[in-house]
Amino acid sequence: RSKSSGRNAINFFQPSMQEAADLRLSLEQDLRGAIDKGRFILCYHPQMDIKGEIVGAEALIRWEDSLKGRLSPADFIPVAEESNLILTIGKWVLMEACNQIKMWQDDGLAVLPYVSINVSSRQFRQQDFVDQVKYALESTGIAPSRLGIELTESVMIVDTNDTVDKMKALKALGVSIAVDDFGTGYSSLVYLKQLPLDVLKIDRGFVRDILSDSSDAVIVETIISMAKHLNIKVIAEGVETLEQLVFLKEKGCTIFQGYYFDEPLTAANFAETYLKQEL
Ligand code: C2E
Ligand code: MG
Ligand code: MG
Ligand code: MG
Repeated sequence: RSKSSGRNAINFFQPSMQEAADLRLSLEQDLRGAIDKGRFILCYHPQMDIKGEIVGAEALIRWEDSLKGRLSPADFIPVAEESNLILTIGKWVLMEACNQIKMWQDDGLAVLPYVSINVSSRQFRQQDFVDQVKYALESTGIAPSRLGIELTESVMIVDTNDTVDKMKALKALGVSIAVDDFGTGYSSLVYLKQLPLDVLKIDRGFVRDILSDSSDAVIVETIISMAKHLNIKVIAEGVETLEQLVFLKEKGCTIFQGYYFDEPLTAANFAETYLKQEL
């Protein structure tokens, strides 16, 4: 066996690459098991208007593993996105959110906000995506205006014609469309004009340093004023402090989501806190 440093370097990396592949495979298998066993839940993160009243909620997936506990999407969505698992998970999220809206509707709760779900690019690219949404709406019988879809900017750059067609079809169903993490991706301003968008969600990264970083402040201000001119709503994500909230309000932002108000809550806690009738 050669002792040249080149060889050693290769031998050194081989096991770790194998380990990474094994880890990925086992995570994929665990994910498959979690889907079969129904180990996913949706949490609901409230979205507030300028008066501090709830207008909507973002549905956020969590994986309740018997050994590892509650896993956040960052731990498994990227892996799911590399296989077809994201399609199965995405379908589940869509149906689960609609079923939940239906249950709240049937419970006759005082407040009924809209619920927005995160749709990954691959899921959106599926040829029958609009039909999936249509089926979810029709089989649950919820008002389509109660459902929103969050897409990232990556969706806009691939096959724009298909994206426009799908968005128009979704809008025709009555579902609203938001661009998530706005400002972090490839955002050509032309798309903002062409696409039938309802909401821009300002990425949490810009909101975080809004008071200390003047570039972030200018970016946020620009997004808000641009959206206003295009008649698109803006949601500021990641609002953690009163100072951030005040600043965003001053700049004309009208909807807010973040730990300043609350963390994402289970469906039961969310209903208890935000949807129950005041006696
Ligand atoms: P996102 O769609 O941008 O969701 C917002 C994330 O920011 C959530 O993290 C939320 O808990 C967090 N967040 C909101 N406000 C604050 C704040 O004030 N401070 C801090 N530190 N964090 C805040 P989460 O739930 O971990 O989700 C992470 C990402 O995973 C989401 O980012 C989304 O891209 C993805 N994801 C979540 N659920 C789903 C899903 O059902 N399907 C797909 N495809 N992706 C999902
Ligand atoms: Mg989102
Ligand atoms: Mg976001
Ligand atoms: Mg994100």
